[in-house]
Amino acid sequence: MMTPEMRRPLVAGNWKMHEGVAEAEALVHSLLAGLPATPAAEVLVLPPFTALETVHRLIGSDTRLRLGAQNCHWETAGAFTGEISTTMLEPWCAYVLVGHSERRQLFGETDEIVRRKLDAVLAAGMRPILALGETGAERERGQTQAVLLRQARSGLVGLSVDQVSRCTIAYEPIWAIGTGVAATPADASEAAAVLRSVVDEAAGREQPTVRILYGGSVTAASAASLLHAPGVDGALVGGASLRAAEFCAIVAGAGA
Ligand code: PEP
Repeated sequence: MMTPEMRRPLVAGNWKMHEGVAEAEALVHSLLAGLPATPAAEVLVLPPFTALETVHRLIGSDTRLRLGAQNCHWETAGAFTGEISTTMLEPWCAYVLVGHSERRQLFGETDEIVRRKLDAVLAAGMRPILALGETGAERERGQTQAVLLRQARSGLVGLSVDQVSRCTIAYEPIWAIGTGVAATPADASEAAAVLRSVVDEAAGREQPTVRILYGGSVTAASAASLLHAPGVDGALVGGASLRAAEFCAIVAGAGA
């Protein structure tokens, strides 16, 4: 049986609505130049849809960098103007992020919608990264655990053991995203323990392959302590993932 120590960390860069094709190309060149030959972490980038093909081509057979999408629709095709399906993403992507707080807050995505997207990603043979986390107000009201339990259960309960084993969870407290104020390693560990309990609940037994990431203002300076917090298996990085040298330093922090 694989022990938690044997989970390879995952460091994922969420580029959000940044980087046109030319900028994406430059960023990937810098990342490939800056990563060591064998990074301790699995490294993933999540560019905008329009850069996926280019980034996929640049990565080629280089196993140091993997590719994912930031969002998807839950149907495979249809009259959904402006949307992208998992069928369209599957040629390029190994992972798809679902449930990012910006999708939940700015685009009205409910737990139910997020679950439909997660199901679609699994059905297409890719790996979902389920993002969740509490707002600052929920935290102040002492509701963090209840929010995490609700969001994680909505995402995972009812999946098969095999499906759960293909999921990654990203704990992203909303008050920490883009604010420069990261959670403490203790906060991240506490949340990871709550989320791990839902993984166990959903899969009926310990699921050693499911990684639980922390996201929210991770920088090169904070990466090592957050990435080594007990129960934390990697990071989802926003702003700092657009700066190649800093992102590579965060990856290095995962192994330090
Ligand atoms: C994110 O949006 O997923 C994120 C973690 O952003 P930042 O690192 O900029 O806080």
